[in-house]
Amino acid sequence: MFNAMLIEKDDQGYRTTVKNVDESVLPEGDVTVNVLYSTLNYKDALAITGKAPVVRSFPMVPGIDLVGIVEHSDSDKFSAGDTVLLNGFGVGETHCGGLATKARLKSDWLIALPSAFTPRQAMAIGTAGYTAMLCVIALEKNGVTPDKGEILVTGANGGVGSFAIAILAKLGYTVVASTGRVDESDYLKKLGASEIIDRATLSEPGRPLAKERWAGAVDSVGSHTLANVCASTKYGGTVAACGLAQGMDLPASVAPFILRGITLAGVDSVMRPIADRVEAWQRLAGIIEPSVFDDIVQEVSLAEAQAVASDLMDGKVRGRVVVDVN
Ligand code: NDP
Repeated sequence: MFNAMLIEKDDQGYRTTVKNVDESVLPEGDVTVNVLYSTLNYKDALAITGKAPVVRSFPMVPGIDLVGIVEHSDSDKFSAGDTVLLNGFGVGETHCGGLATKARLKSDWLIALPSAFTPRQAMAIGTAGYTAMLCVIALEKNGVTPDKGEILVTGANGGVGSFAIAILAKLGYTVVASTGRVDESDYLKKLGASEIIDRATLSEPGRPLAKERWAGAVDSVGSHTLANVCASTKYGGTVAACGLAQGMDLPASVAPFILRGITLAGVDSVMRPIADRVEAWQRLAGIIEPSVFDDIVQEVSLAEAQAVASDLMDGKVRGRVVVDVN
């Protein structure tokens, strides 16, 4: 038996509880891990609250991120005692995930915990921080260098947004943060934002082309916001799009693409090849300073995580949530 958050769906409806479950719940995999920490990402909150059909089979342990110690391995890539890190690959959606004291996983999905980070720090970064790094790498690959001008980060108080600001500022970019919580300006400035704008200026339907301002952007919001960000991106700029906090739609025109040659770089973290993951985590190791974690992270227990998932859906959570599952 092990302790887990379990999502069930049957005649009694969709429900999430924390309870002792039998190991038979765990799916097949060649590595069994004693989980140390997991996290709450936007997708975890969707799964836990049932607000979107993220979970594809039941019962399911949510948790798209985990760090833990290998208890047993049938793979020659990892041995008992190794500390491993997992982000995504459908874990917490189609394969039981990290919000539990035990997980059984495929070795192909795991990477060794980067030595620069403690298990808790790696989960403070989690999928949100690793995705923010992938977005910044996408900007770099498209030639967006700090001298090109301002970079806009939307959903600034969220997990992706907070890490995007911290990463970009450390790399020397001038960062403008778009948020619905301008009262959190001190937090955003401490992370490295030089200016804060109200997200209401971006969230309503806008013109196909607006005044050119951004050399690049990291967008975790989608919908009208992403359309307006594209419309106000400077000639030749790049927008890295990874999220849908406002909506999955993209009510945009082709004007910014065909008249200003801007690039919309889609960023997926879930099925990302291992080499890209290792690159992103290595970059994070060289960029993120430990003091950043003090500002960004709050820690909760497995029992508390369900209520915090509802807060996250309501846009009340700032930064990142680490879950101590033990
Ligand atoms: P969070 O909930 O931590 O942050 C989302 C932020 O978006 C909020 O803090 C809020 O910021 C803003 N926001 C919320 N609702 C709205 C709204 N209706 N309109 C405009 N802005 C809104 O989530 P994460 O940072 O973990 O994830 C952000 C998004 O990125 C999600 O959609 C998630 O699914 C996606 N994602 C995608 C990944 C990928 O692989 N492509 C990986 C990780 C995340 P503020 O209060 O500052 O306005």
